[in-house]
Amino acid sequence: MSSAGRTALVTGGARGIGYAIASELAADGCSIVISDIMADAASEAAEKLAGGGIETLATSGDVSKSADVERMFAAAVGKFGAVDILVNNAGITRDGLLLRLDEKDWDLVLSVNLKGAFLCTKAAARIMMKNRWGRIINISSVVGVMGNPGQANYSASKAGLIGLTKSSAKELGSRNITVNAVAPGYIQTEMTEKLPEAVKEAYMSMLQIKRPGTPQDVARVVSFLAGDKAEYLTGLVINCDGGMLM
Ligand code: NDP
Repeated sequence: MSSAGRTALVTGGARGIGYAIASELAADGCSIVISDIMADAASEAAEKLAGGGIETLATSGDVSKSADVERMFAAAVGKFGAVDILVNNAGITRDGLLLRLDEKDWDLVLSVNLKGAFLCTKAAARIMMKNRWGRIINISSVVGVMGNPGQANYSASKAGLIGLTKSSAKELGSRNITVNAVAPGYIQTEMTEKLPEAVKEAYMSMLQIKRPGTPQDVARVVSFLAGDKAEYLTGLVINCDGGMLM
């Protein structure tokens, strides 16, 4: 596999799309660092993925706190010597219509989804620049491109990730570091499970491929972007959405 022997750190990797990404990259032959806010869940996920020649490490912390991020990367470098692939996947929602959207829910969502990716990108870029190789993949969302009622905070954070992706791609390309975003559409996870049925039906009606996406659909795109076959791709936003947005 083209990523074999690399070390990948996946934030929010204990469950959902993050776990599927970690699992796909493990299948590609990467060493895996599962980073998540819940220590027990991170350890459990890392244990499940270990074996068959794949080494894993669990690190817990909040991506929006710089001290936690420094600690997570130090642990990864301590065990594996480098972080070659970073997947900024940790994300949360705190939905509400604009006029009722609480300031603290704005700050929290921007902090985890956007500032978290910035802090991790900065920590990873330091390591990758020395090694003259790196892959950074940001998990954005189609709503970062098209907007969504009730998600001003979330869609702003996901649009911000696209700006972060393109600026980082421009700064880091000369060091052989690519930075791309994947924008999932309607993917079946715990995050979307709690949506009202009417919203799920509205999403389904926008799909050309008439099924919700799976975490594995997203993970396969990440695996491609992380590997050598994608070496000439940077600054892209790839929709993984069954044709929801085009
Ligand atoms: P989940 O809620 O299932 O998983 C997110 C993971 O991130 C959880 O393990 C969560 O921990 C962790 N996490 C939350 N906050 C932090 C934090 N501050 N620091 C570190 N880890 C944290 O989400 P999904 O798997 O559905 O989504 C993954 C990504 O994909 C997100 O960025 C999301 O916005 C994006 N996405 C998802 C779509 C979908 O349809 N599901 C569509 C488009 C984009 P905990 O369990 O404690 O909350």
